[in-house]
Amino acid sequence: MVGVYHRSLSLGILFPSMKTSRRDFLTAAAATAATSQLRAAAASGPWHQRTYRWGQTNITEKDPVRYDIPWWREFWKRTRVQGVIINAGGIVAYYPSKFPLHHRAEFLGDRDLYGELAKAAHDDGLVVIARMDSNRTAEDFFQAHPDWFARNASGNPYRASDKYVTCVNGPYYDEYLPSVLKEIIDRSHPEGFADNSWSGLGRDSICYCENCARTFRDKAGAALPRKHDWSDPVYRQWIEFSYARRIEIWDLNNRATKAAGGPDCLWFGMNSGAVTSQSRSFRDCKAIFGRAEMVFLDHQSRGTSGFEENADTGKLVHGVLGWDKIAPESMAMYQAGRGTFRVASKPAAEARFWMYEGFAGGIQPWWHHIGAWHEDKRMYHTAEPVMKWHEANEKYLVKRRPLATVGVVWSQKNTDYYGQDRPAELVDAPYRGFTESLVRARIPYVPIHIDYLERDGAGLKALVLPNVVALSDGQCAAIRKFVAAGGGLIATGFSSLCNEWGDARPDFGLADLFGAHFTGAAGAERNVSAQTLHSYLRITPEQRAGVLGGFDETEILPFGGTLQAMKLDAGVKVPLTFIAPFPVLPPETSWMREPKTDIPGLVLKGRVAFLPAEIDRLYSRDNLPDHARLLADLVRWAAGGDIPLRVEGRGVFDCSVYTQPGRVIAHFVNLTATGRMPVTDDDLTPSGALEVSVHLPAGVSGRAARLLVAGKGVNATVASGWARVTIPSVLDHEVVVIE
Ligand SMILES: [Zn+2]
Repeated sequence: MVGVYHRSLSLGILFPSMKTSRRDFLTAAAATAATSQLRAAAASGPWHQRTYRWGQTNITEKDPVRYDIPWWREFWKRTRVQGVIINAGGIVAYYPSKFPLHHRAEFLGDRDLYGELAKAAHDDGLVVIARMDSNRTAEDFFQAHPDWFARNASGNPYRASDKYVTCVNGPYYDEYLPSVLKEIIDRSHPEGFADNSWSGLGRDSICYCENCARTFRDKAGAALPRKHDWSDPVYRQWIEFSYARRIEIWDLNNRATKAAGGPDCLWFGMNSGAVTSQSRSFRDCKAIFGRAEMVFLDHQSRGTSGFEENADTGKLVHGVLGWDKIAPESMAMYQAGRGTFRVASKPAAEARFWMYEGFAGGIQPWWHHIGAWHEDKRMYHTAEPVMKWHEANEKYLVKRRPLATVGVVWSQKNTDYYGQDRPAELVDAPYRGFTESLVRARIPYVPIHIDYLERDGAGLKALVLPNVVALSDGQCAAIRKFVAAGGGLIATGFSSLCNEWGDARPDFGLADLFGAHFTGAAGAERNVSAQTLHSYLRITPEQRAGVLGGFDETEILPFGGTLQAMKLDAGVKVPLTFIAPFPVLPPETSWMREPKTDIPGLVLKGRVAFLPAEIDRLYSRDNLPDHARLLADLVRWAAGGDIPLRVEGRGVFDCSVYTQPGRVIAHFVNLTATGRMPVTDDDLTPSGALEVSVHLPAGVSGRAARLLVAGKGVNATVASGWARVTIPSVLDHEVVVIE
């Protein structure tokens, strides 16, 4: 590839006094060019479109004296990485920077460890990403530039242990960091940059430095807010101002790297796959994923939910980024999540499940080790087989479109302005509860950003609003349009009750679709119970058919929440009503005081199911199978039964289906034994046979089928537009390709 050749040449020209001779450079350049030409034959386009497998040895300050570069080069080969992330600068520099305050790693001496690694990687034909971590400095920097640092309301600098936090609105970001980026580009010509903590001080801390006070006054015409108050318009302006500044930084850094390194020398701030986490850091998912050529994800282990969280993350990111771009994700090979042990191996099963679910969501693998030398060497065996499998099957794992008829709506504004300081409870729990019920029911779905409903919603039969409360009038109009075009809708909790700023409307924004009107108390939308109440839902017998298919032998369902009276339009159906809590103890008192009320738990109007009973939030907390079944029943009803996948066989599988021209690709991740228990998986349990039927899209004949993990062809039978395949057993995951 020509670009690589020129890069090495220019290094020789820029640094003629470097120890390596000009002749060596040319020889290395020729070898690199040859390697790169081989790679170019297999993939074309700029590096960010074809670098699928990544590796990162996250260098500690001790590593300059123990980094065995030849060993790691061999490891790069063994694990089939195409790109490496190498620590360059920021809080700690791993090269002799010309900037005197750019703190060199304690054990670096005069060495250029970053430069040596970047050269080794380039010589091996790999893409190099220079890693920055740049939101704080040592004290000498603070003393030299006290006006570059974030200050609290008392004027004292914000500290992070012994470091000082830099202010995103100051010259540290506007001037200093771009010049460091240029220095790194001039020295080593990385293909791009990643910055770990690029977005600076989080939402919990307001910076009152002079730069912030002046910039905010210029833009908002007001003084900085004195406290966190979501109802204060100035505080909301500060939220929006803070988001906008991170986007300015994103664009500023990209201008700097492109100017110094060419049009494909890109800068990427790291992003979390969790919207709530993005919100806390003022990282606007829609703006960032919408402008980026690719996304580097930092989302390394499952939180309180299961591995399926990672497939959801991949689909959510691609929903904004686009499905032709890539989203590699840093995956910890060390113990992370429930207890962090930076230099101890994560059990291979736990790490690999996370990676497999990433693949199922369109994420590319990226092994991540902390430090270059380990006494626990088990971690060196975790990634290799996964990376090799990925290389062998990569054409099936990128540039594809999800095949799903169910969309689950999300919106970061809802996380911010409805969720406010409790997004985990108010926003994430209903989203997780609903999507987990879809996983349990083997119903493929795509997360869909509310603002892309009109663009991407055409193939959807059913749309889910999992307690999406803050919606603008325009967003409500888009949902109305979707329903008017024949789409089914399921809305839970207090969906659409608030406007985009989280202020309650007098009635639901979608009351006309729901056939139900809010008559509850002010503030009800955030007054949800943290406790599981002893309440129930009563099934209306004559309305059981069609929508509550799984509950023939019961008149009641466990609920756990509370409901309020509501005004209903004429002609709506109410298949579920509220049974108020009654005592649990002593058993003698445990009888219903009021067996039947008129308070609706579920309202049906046309193809719209409004479920004020917040079953999705409660499922994520209480994990009652009846709740998952009810949600899945409603989705099948709203989709008119149009779900493109059927799977028979025992076990819990996260099922994701994609199309490429002429083929269908279906992922089945075996979650049977991984459960929701607070465990770290160290074992695998094979499933029995799965009978899989996929509704074939146009252009797929279904005559041939292959199992990419078992590594063999299997028979497919086609009838009425459906292809049927038997998977004998799934140990951890399987991917079926039907062509
Ligand atoms: Zn500031």
